[in-house]
Amino acid sequence: MSTFDLLILPGDGIGTEIMVEVDRIISWFNDRGAHSFNTERGLVGGAAYDAHGAAIDDATMDLAQKADAVMFGAVGGPKWDDVPYESRPEAGLLRLRKDLGLFANLRPAICYPALAESSSLKRELVEGLDILIVRELTGGVYFGEPKEITDLENGQKRAVDTQLYETYEIDRIARVAFDLARKRGNMVHSSEKRNVMKTGVLWHEVVSKIHQEDFSDVKLEHILADNCAMQLVRAPKQFDVIVTDNLFGDILSDVAAMLTGSLGMLPSASLGAEDENGRAKAMYEPVHGSAPDIAGEGKANPIAMISSFAMALRYSCSLADEADMVEKAISTVLSNGLRTGDIMQPGKQQVTTSEMGTAILDELNKLA
Ligand code: NAD
Repeated sequence: MSTFDLLILPGDGIGTEIMVEVDRIISWFNDRGAHSFNTERGLVGGAAYDAHGAAIDDATMDLAQKADAVMFGAVGGPKWDDVPYESRPEAGLLRLRKDLGLFANLRPAICYPALAESSSLKRELVEGLDILIVRELTGGVYFGEPKEITDLENGQKRAVDTQLYETYEIDRIARVAFDLARKRGNMVHSSEKRNVMKTGVLWHEVVSKIHQEDFSDVKLEHILADNCAMQLVRAPKQFDVIVTDNLFGDILSDVAAMLTGSLGMLPSASLGAEDENGRAKAMYEPVHGSAPDIAGEGKANPIAMISSFAMALRYSCSLADEADMVEKAISTVLSNGLRTGDIMQPGKQQVTTSEMGTAILDELNKLA
């Protein structure tokens, strides 16, 4: 029997409500006895600030470093709008990403057939869509120096951001993308702006070299980022894996996400480098925030959080069959017409957060 250590960080707002549904699925797996998940819990975000004046403390960071995977809910809310900048709820999330070295952000955009009508595109364009965006998360223009605004003392100011990539940063994210493509549709689109940016030229060069040397069995296409955005809304099903830098990834992943309908459906994974045992630090979280407008009302859609757990099963625990099972259970529940408020459609049955969790567990019981 394999054993996995999970750190559960529900956070704030609906983070605490949707994590309850993941807790129930973890217990379900533990009760079946095939695998064992040990869980530790911690505070992050506003909840951590209230308890000890920081958005995450060192003891919780230690647990995160030791865990096979961190399950993260969401942080933030109006209660903490005025806390000092370095202690704001998001600082907990940023410290986790930085200290765990999570350089690869995986954002799937999957369109469940039952929800194809929720997309802003026509059903035939999105039904069955399954794209994985692999975004470089720790480099590029969000972190490059200099990054400053200078007063030119003539009534003008000058703002500078620096887009900066080194070979190793492109190398490691490209390898993640090619590896993942081999387990999916075996195709990678590498997206940059080599026509106008030097980082794009280097990106293209490094990705091509790695492809030629180690991944020539995977189909590789280079696509300019502006064209990629256009193609994503024109004919999104042509894509399998898209690998791109931090800035373009931020934008392209949001475009891809919206093809699928709702924020409450979108999971994500952030992975670090593999150690000598092939183990990588990892954090799994929904794309959405703490939704203070509906927190505490039982209205939150738990599917993004539960799908994030399915990603943890797939990528941190190598339990692909179990991940498939959770995703199949979600798909069936949606096909059966159950909806939380955010994805409600005429003629469907509206359910609460916990009713959605129960329905997914019922489906898991049928699949087991
Ligand atoms: P949000 O994602 O929390 O909510 C946007 C809208 O989508 C809201 O109307 C909300 O009710 C709805 N929504 C989001 N998730 C849902 C779900 N699972 N089920 C049903 N409806 C859902 O974004 P926001 O309103 O811009 O931000 C709210 C707070 O969350 C802010 O404090 C923000 O800083 C924080 N935030 C945190 C994260 C994170 O923890 N990773 C990400 C984004 C925003």
